[in-house]
Amino acid sequence: MTHFPDRSHWQALSRRVAIPGQAFIDGRYMDAASGARFDCISPIDGRVLGAVADCDAQDVERAVASARRAFEAGHWSQASPAHRKRVLLALATLVETHADELALLETLDMGKPIRDARRIDLPGVVRCLTWTAEAVDKLYGEIAPTGPHELGLVTREAAGVVAAIVPWNFPLLMACWKIAPALAMGNSVVLKPSERSPLSALRLAALAAEAGLPEGVLNVLPGHGSRVGEPLALHMDVDVLAFTGSTATGAKLLEYAGRSNLKRVWLECGGKSPHVVFADAPDLDAAAKGVAQGIFFNQGEVCTAGSRLLVQRSIRDDFVHQVIAYGQRMQPRHPLEADAPMGALVDAAHVDKVLADIARAEADGARLLLGGQRAEVEAGGCYVQPTVFDQVRPEQALAREEVFGPVLAVLGFDDEAEAVRVANDSRYGLAAGLWTRDLGRAHRVARQLRAGSVWVNGWDGGDMTAPFGGYKQSGNGRDKSLHAFDKYSEMKATWIQL
Ligand code: NAD
Repeated sequence: MTHFPDRSHWQALSRRVAIPGQAFIDGRYMDAASGARFDCISPIDGRVLGAVADCDAQDVERAVASARRAFEAGHWSQASPAHRKRVLLALATLVETHADELALLETLDMGKPIRDARRIDLPGVVRCLTWTAEAVDKLYGEIAPTGPHELGLVTREAAGVVAAIVPWNFPLLMACWKIAPALAMGNSVVLKPSERSPLSALRLAALAAEAGLPEGVLNVLPGHGSRVGEPLALHMDVDVLAFTGSTATGAKLLEYAGRSNLKRVWLECGGKSPHVVFADAPDLDAAAKGVAQGIFFNQGEVCTAGSRLLVQRSIRDDFVHQVIAYGQRMQPRHPLEADAPMGALVDAAHVDKVLADIARAEADGARLLLGGQRAEVEAGGCYVQPTVFDQVRPEQALAREEVFGPVLAVLGFDDEAEAVRVANDSRYGLAAGLWTRDLGRAHRVARQLRAGSVWVNGWDGGDMTAPFGGYKQSGNGRDKSLHAFDKYSEMKATWIQL
């Protein structure tokens, strides 16, 4: 692995980096129509990074109108796929050139370790843009099987104006999983980043313009869910709503669509993913490390976090100790340290929520084996220790509700049938993992797990070729892969009498 810059490098860069504070509408930066702003606070140390436009329904009107005008003008929507590919590849190159700056904005804004932002998020963004751009000029329509006197064509068209509402845990990556395929198909986009992490998306808007995206094709509105997200989701001129965030907000969006124009709503929501470890795992040490990383990576602020460890009772005590040993080494550090295993949680309110979930687990009778408290890393910062609870009962809140923090719930099982039953006993179905050396069992259990991604003898595998999304209340859409294009297209059947 090549050398990674140390903290002094990132601190020097953070003194120079510009904090983007304005909305991006109709091809240029501007203040919110109301002139309102909110403070963007770093969870690293509570410092105010800058003031950001606090948009509302007036800005939604401006952005949607701009997106619609751009769509009708056709400079993008009617451009050849080869042209759209060139622009998206140019954007990927610009993101790569500015990767240090964008990674730093992510870390300052939401607290993840800079190494992860630079080595995981940003390469993921570049791969997403590149892969999507490379795919879009290789999509063909279909010819229906017809008799000699007729011709049936099935073609794909851009859906129109897409609203993308995204969360704060992987701010730019989640945004790009939506906007890359939406733009590649020729749609216009209004992107609403989370109010907790708006900076990287605002910076991306200017890079997209520099890459050659016509004005109005990508608009970015910073602001709050109730003031920007809700009017966007209710807007009669938005054709598609693509969302990543909590299941509770997803449910509201379906309702808004029903109350307005039945826009298509694609949801990528929460999870409570089971990590199932059988006694015959090929390498229990690797499994323990995988379990610890599966829950503590990104401070546990991951939709696919392996937050429920289901371990076979015959190996339970030894295995849990191995997990704890790895967890102990993942204590939070200053996120600009090159080897910080965990950074800060997104903000003080989220720390309070995670600590309240921990207190409730203790009150419910779970046994605290590791952590459980705020970590003192930097004055004014938002840090929580890696935390492990044993003796968690399946009906307890910790086994059922998403904490979205570094908190692992350990449950036991005796045999395969019980493992599958407990793993599937959840309203969520985003991801699941299993560790076994028995090939037959691996396939059998993988088939029975009700989850959109299943990882065998590893955690969090996959690349742009693999669709990503959830069963049950974890969502209804798939990001990434060729399937993502379906979300942003209309299929048209044209029937010609010869
Ligand atoms: P959230 O639902 O609170 O917010 C997500 C976005 O929705 C934000 O931009 C927010 O401003 C907006 N929003 C909030 N209320 C709204 C409303 N009434 N109308 C319209 N928009 C509204 O979620 P969060 O806290 O930002 O993110 C964490 C959640 O996201 C977790 O549940 C996590 O599992 C989920 N997540 C899922 C995936 C996935 O791919 N399935 C990926 C990352 C995160």
